[in-house]
Amino acid sequence: MTMPVLFLGHGSPMNAVERNRYSDAWRTAGEAIERPAGVVVVSAHWYRSGAAVTANENPRTIHDFYGFPPELYAVRYPAPGSPELAKRVAALAAPVVVDLDAAWGFDHGAWSVLVHLLPAAEVPVIQLAIDARQPAAFHWNLGAALSPLRDERVLIVGSGNVVHNLSLVDFGAGSSGYDWAVRFDEVMRAALNAGDREALVEYRRHPGGTLAVPTPDHYLPLLYAAALRRPGESVATLVDGMEAGSLSMRSIRIG
Ligand code: ZN
Repeated sequence: MTMPVLFLGHGSPMNAVERNRYSDAWRTAGEAIERPAGVVVVSAHWYRSGAAVTANENPRTIHDFYGFPPELYAVRYPAPGSPELAKRVAALAAPVVVDLDAAWGFDHGAWSVLVHLLPAAEVPVIQLAIDARQPAAFHWNLGAALSPLRDERVLIVGSGNVVHNLSLVDFGAGSSGYDWAVRFDEVMRAALNAGDREALVEYRRHPGGTLAVPTPDHYLPLLYAAALRRPGESVATLVDGMEAGSLSMRSIRIG
């Protein structure tokens, strides 16, 4: 059997400890998937120079944010790592060099969604870092190279946001978005459904592109997921909507 692929719009770290329509959707999505043998997360928050995978046996939970309530710092996601899966990802990525990293753990881009998606924390999880030096097409190709994992019962999860502009966040906006943000999110939804690689890779060309994606970190996990779609597979919206003007909470399941 072939594992589906997910892209989850993680938004605020507080979604880890809140029950809301986003965390409920991630929970429902996890319940609908047969227990995976392993999970690979491409998180916006491991954005570094050079590709890498976590290769430690017991990854730590990283609280990579400031100014949030104590309950969020108390969250742990105690899933084991998998040095074997890390080596498998590195082998599939070749000739791209993927470092086996022993220092990173689970950042909040991973654990804030995993606590809902796989709350038992029993399935081994690794993270794949985003190489910040590389263009969008590189990330698409690296995502596509991981395709055999889907037939090895490995669940691949991109965690970011289709629209993510923190400098324009307006908490007074509630669950609504700027016009340009809503339009960009809609263009990306259509591109995903159409399997339009060029429209997804050349995202900055679309109206609002430079506002929606001021830095690539939260957008690129989407390309890893989209590149793994196979002919005939559907793209299902798990949940969508805008928060605080400039965050798209779109989450999708492919396959
Ligand atoms: Zn984030």
